[in-house]
Amino acid sequence: MAIYEKLMGNPFVDTGICGICEWLGRGVQPEQITTTDLEKVVTEVVPILRPFDKKKPEAHGWKNWVSIFTTNHPLTHPSKKGDRAAGFKEALLNHIANAENLSQSGDCIGCGRRDANIWLSRTGVPLTGSGKLRNFFPTFAEGVGYCSACAFAIQLSPLALVATGGRFLMLHSNSWNALRAWTRKCLEDIQLQRIRLEISGCFNPGYANPRNGLFYMTREMVEFGEMRWDEDISLQVYCFTNFGQGPELEIFYMPAPVFRFLRIVHQSEFKIAWQQIVRSGYSKVNWAKVKSEEDYKNRTNRVYENLLEDRSILRYFLNRPAQKPRGNWELLSLYLKEVRNMDQARLNKIKDVGDFIADSIRVSGRDRRLTQLERAKSYRECRNVLRFVIRERISQGAQEPLFSLEDYVEHLFPASNNVTFWSETRDLLLFRIYEKLHGWLQEQGLVDFDEDTASVDDDLSETDLPKED
Ligand SMILES: [Zn+2]
Repeated sequence: MAIYEKLMGNPFVDTGICGICEWLGRGVQPEQITTTDLEKVVTEVVPILRPFDKKKPEAHGWKNWVSIFTTNHPLTHPSKKGDRAAGFKEALLNHIANAENLSQSGDCIGCGRRDANIWLSRTGVPLTGSGKLRNFFPTFAEGVGYCSACAFAIQLSPLALVATGGRFLMLHSNSWNALRAWTRKCLEDIQLQRIRLEISGCFNPGYANPRNGLFYMTREMVEFGEMRWDEDISLQVYCFTNFGQGPELEIFYMPAPVFRFLRIVHQSEFKIAWQQIVRSGYSKVNWAKVKSEEDYKNRTNRVYENLLEDRSILRYFLNRPAQKPRGNWELLSLYLKEVRNMDQARLNKIKDVGDFIADSIRVSGRDRRLTQLERAKSYRECRNVLRFVIRERISQGAQEPLFSLEDYVEHLFPASNNVTFWSETRDLLLFRIYEKLHGWLQEQGLVDFDEDTASVDDDLSETDLPKED
């Protein structure tokens, strides 16, 4: 039996093991790791983990160490004089000396496969029980039992943490490859700090907004492209600080369909259109004054927030002031199928109806029906516009009906628990009409607003959202 395995279950342990593997080499897997490998990691890593010393700023060091392991850690304890790194190294080597191979079962809370032989508080494992102080540990004890191998791995977990506005993002996933891709990104930065002799601590891409930081990391992870497409990868990201006075924990969950959708858009021709959609989700940004991504990357982004909260982002696909789609029907269909679980038959029917309405508007030579559809504030108003279009199509000599009764009930306005999500259908129709007619509307001088700078706030505020009925 080996000392470690992939995905043992405890996020701090798995993060540490992933950091150790990645440090040892791209192809190294947990099952191969020996105590000699662990000693090698200690020799190489301990010298760069030194905490930042205000009295010697020129020496550089980890600025965030105390927020991960508190000031009582061997590397930061105020009463520890002399070479603190030597004390830390000794503690790590001691863990290695006591590390046993995995067995069938045990009472270590980290692996459940070995018996606990060391008692750790939040100085040893972030957020672990600590008496009177707020903690995130179920038994309100002073600590909990770990085995030496897990205790060792946790000490190395900072290698794979992302720093974000005084807190840290730690990834856990059902996919080992996803964890490795995240860790590789973090370690590349730490290796670079080591080469430049400018040690500053955990990888910090400058995202004080943890949700935006999570989406940034997702973007970077999918670039590695090593995750298998048949894996249903979901991510849990723990945003925490173990800082003495105010430990905090927030958990973000990215469901497998969202991650899958993001993987596809980032690796396809949809990438640029997706960037426009994401951009439209930032609130209160004056795009005319933006000089670089730094000016807005920490602003609240509703596209990201809605994706994490299982809410629709359909309206961000519409640039309503410009009467223009963001992306094309294929990208929108991809989102609706992958993330919103919409069936293909419904999408096909809405697309056909959108095409018919667009043709009718073009033949009529005016955009009256389009503006009526945009302004519809109720299911009744929306149905009335469609009724006008049906009548006009008859007078225009159209051969096919706009839709059948069956299409209407099953695909256009299906009811769920007596609620008809009419505005969703309306927005889909608008998207298709914009896609078909934007050029024509411009030629006719019916739309003069063509800058893709308007945010969704400009065209539809939260309070203006039409009610479903
Ligand atoms: Zn263990």
